[in-house]
Amino acid sequence: MQRGKLKGRDECKLCEHEVTLTYKQPDELKRFMNKLGKILPRRASRLCAKHQRQLARQVKRARKMALLPYEVEQ
Ligand SMILES: [Zn+2]
Repeated sequence: MQRGKLKGRDECKLCEHEVTLTYKQPDELKRFMNKLGKILPRRASRLCAKHQRQLARQVKRARKMALLPYEVEQ
C-alpha cells in the first residue's frame, strides 16, 4: 500500500477521530512520547500542527501534575 497522498494536509489521526488531548489522559499522551519521556517530533508523531501543539501543552501540564515523568535520565 502506498501512502503518497495526504488528504487534507492539516488532518492527522486525532483530527480524524476528533480527539482532544488532555493531561487527564496521560496514557493517550504517552503514545506520542518515546521511552525517555520525550515528545516525539512531528514527523514521528504524524500529528498536525494543532495537535502537536496541544500535545506539547498537555504533556507539560501532565508533568506538573506528576502524571507524566519529566525527561527520564538514562
Ligand atoms: Zn490533528
